[in-house]
Formats: sequence, structure tokens, C-alpha cells
Amino acid sequence: MALDDPRRLIPRTDQLLGLPAVRRARERLSDDVVRAVVREAQDRARRGEIAPGDVEPSVLAALDTCSASSLTPVLNATGVVVHTNLGRAPLSGAALDAVRTAGGYVDVELDLGTGTRSRRGAGARAALLAACPPARDALVVNNGAAALVLATTALSAGREVVISRGELVEIGAGFRLPELIESTGARLREVGTTNRTHLRDYAEAIGPDTGCLLKVHPSNFRLEGFTSGVEVGELRLLARAHGVPLVADLGSGLLVPDPHLPSEPDAASALEAGADAVIASGDKLLGGPQAGLVLGTPDVLARMAAHPLARAVRADKLALAALEATLTGGPTPVADALHADPDTLRDRAERLGAAVGAPVVAHDGRVGGGGAPGVPLPGWAVRLPEAAAPLLRAGRPAVLPRVHDHACLLDLRCVPESDDDRLRAAVQAALAALGAAEPVPGRAR
Ligand SMILES: *Cc1c(COP(=O)(O)O)cnc(C)c1O
Repeated sequence: MALDDPRRLIPRTDQLLGLPAVRRARERLSDDVVRAVVREAQDRARRGEIAPGDVEPSVLAALDTCSASSLTPVLNATGVVVHTNLGRAPLSGAALDAVRTAGGYVDVELDLGTGTRSRRGAGARAALLAACPPARDALVVNNGAAALVLATTALSAGREVVISRGELVEIGAGFRLPELIESTGARLREVGTTNRTHLRDYAEAIGPDTGCLLKVHPSNFRLEGFTSGVEVGELRLLARAHGVPLVADLGSGLLVPDPHLPSEPDAASALEAGADAVIASGDKLLGGPQAGLVLGTPDVLARMAAHPLARAVRADKLALAALEATLTGGPTPVADALHADPDTLRDRAERLGAAVGAPVVAHDGRVGGGGAPGVPLPGWAVRLPEAAAPLLRAGRPAVLPRVHDHACLLDLRCVPESDDDRLRAAVQAALAALGAAEPVPGRAR
């Protein structure tokens, strides 16, 4: 290399690795990743793509966007509050703090006073009991499906689960309730018909072979017309008379009634009506981490907790910490999104629309996650050309809009107000890329 070759000015690897910002990045990223970023910038300078003086800033910029996880944060502009493809409930600040603490050594299963082993997840259990007073005991497992498997296995393996034909539902991709139940070795004893089931149907089916009665909330669809079902309150006497546990799978996880969602079942009401155990998810309407919650009577929960399968589906310490903090901390992002003020949503949409030159239209959000089907959450959306959608998804921050009726709709219900500026910048970038790619008809260029 000649003495005056500009490549001589490219910073050396040890120089770059020694920069304070790079040293900090080495605490969160592997050595391989950091060295690859450094090498890439040096190579670009060697090829003359950037000046030697730009190597350092380009390393810093690249490290800034580098993350040890391949998961990309997304601004959820769909208006769907519990979006399964986006990881369902975003955690509250309190839950995030709790996860951070629980990431280290914590007394999840230790009594610091005596130095002996304690009941795992006692804090989450206490918080659940406080949040749902009719529950006399609580158990937390990995997710709602695991709770259902554990309940049917512990209460009914080799015996019958009596369930209405109207409740043999498919909850999500690959999750058909009847298949799940049969996989546990319990036999399904179907009663009634798809649209109508009566108390006498249950009464005729119940017998010495019955392991439990199961009520499932068909969370993701509604049956209308000539229908009838039997509520938990009507089944309680039958269950009591035969000494058979009555289990209610509610799905979405309201612990107490929510006036905004009057037709959504809640754990407290189901327990008061006579369920022995109620099953719900932690990451749907409760707004917490993925978890399966079981609330109910001490004897039924003890049978579940004592089953060997309980160990295979036990909750992670991070989930236990986040669940407790979700229950004891401030409002969750899910609650904020569900109860967002329509006027505020409209103001925010109009500000965004004005900034990017796009109209605002009425738009209904949804609860999502298989909850409250058909219940609209009235709000507003900024309407962009459909072609903006892929650009928004590919942008950083990534934005997920709703594509509907040949339009790309941005509903701000699930976007924290503090992210409005980032969203606007992302939309402006997407529209600029769109304008560069294809001239909009009728617009002078
Ligand atoms: C969502 C749901 C489940 C499954 O819960 P996961 O936490 O997703 O495993 C089970 N039953 C009902 C009624 C549901 O809505």
C-alpha cells in the first residue's frame, strides 16, 4: 500500500473495539457480532464505498440497531388489541421491571427467612387470589392450553369429559379442543347438538365414568338464532349431586366483569355461579405474560397440582414475575387500548393524517385473541394507499397496518401516544418510498 493510500487511514480493529460506545455494545452483543460489524465497515472503506473517516460513525450506527434477538419491535396499527401474531398482550411497565429483576437469581421457590424451599410462585398466587376474591386457590401453568390439558388429565384420564357439542371448538391454528382433550387419554362424552344443549342432556350422560363436566367459552365465534346452552349456574347442582368437578374454560382471562365487554365471561362470576375450577389465559384480556391461570377450590386445584404433568407445564419465573406485576401494578397497555377515549383517538389520527396528507375514516378496532367476537371498538384510522402496507412493515420501526378493502388503514388505538412521532416518521418514509417507486396518478411530479 502506498504511503498516501487513503486506506491507511481506516481505523484499526483494536482502535474501534476500544471505543467506549463499542465497549458498551460488547456487553449486550456477542464478540462475533461486534467484530462482524467492525469488519463490515472497514471492508466498505477498503472498497471505497465510504471514506475512512466514516468508518467509526458507521460502526456506531450499525451497533445501535443491532440486537441480540431477531425479534423486531412492531407498532401495532391494526386496531386489534390482543394480536396473536404480535405476541398478544404487550406488558405493562411494572411487568417489564419485574421481568428484569426476575432475570437474575430470585427467591421464586425459596423462603429467605428460613432458608428452606417454599411454594413456587407464591406472589403470583396471592395476587390472583386478591384480584379474584371468589377464588380460594390458584395455580399458574405455561398457557391456557396447558391448563386445560392438566385439568382433563388430572380429573378425567381414562374417564369421560362431558361437554356440549356446541363447545367443541377450534381456538386457533392447530388447536382443536376435542383433539387436545382426547390426547390426554380422557374420553369425550358429547352431549346436545351444535346449536342447542339442555340440562337433561348433561343429566343423561353423567355417570360413574364421568371425570368432569367441562364448559368451554366459544371465544372466537357467536352462535345466533335458535340456540340454547346450559350455564355454569344450572350445571352446579348436577355436578354437586354426582360429586363431579365442574370446570369452565373461559379463555380470555377477565378476572372480574368489565363493563366495556358485557358479554365476555369472567372468572369471579363463573366461580360464584358454581364452577370448581376456571381456566384462563394470562396474555389475553388480563394483559399479562403468556400463562395459564387456574382459579378454584383447594381440592380440585390440589389434584391438578399433584399430578406429574403439573411439573411439565409449570410456569417460568419470568412469567410468574410479570403476572404478579400485571395484577398489582398500574393499568396495562391492553386495558389502555380497550378503554381508549374515541375523541383522543380521533385527534391523534387527524394530526397524523394532516402531517402525511391522508384522510381519516371511521374504523372499528377489535379485541382479538379470540375474545369478544363481533364486539366493535369504535375509533378512527388514517387511510393510505394499499401499496404502503409492505413498505410500512419493512420499515424501522416496523408498522403493522390493517389492509382492508384495498386500503392501508392505520388505527392508533394500540399505538402508545408516546410513539406518535415515530409512527409519523415511519409513515412519511413509507410514502416517500412509495412516491419514488410509482407516480401517484393525477399528482404533478
Ligand atoms: C385462547 C383459549 C385457550 C388457549 O389458551 P392459550 O393461553 O392460548 O394456550 C383455551 N380455551 C379458550 C376458550 C381460549 O379462548
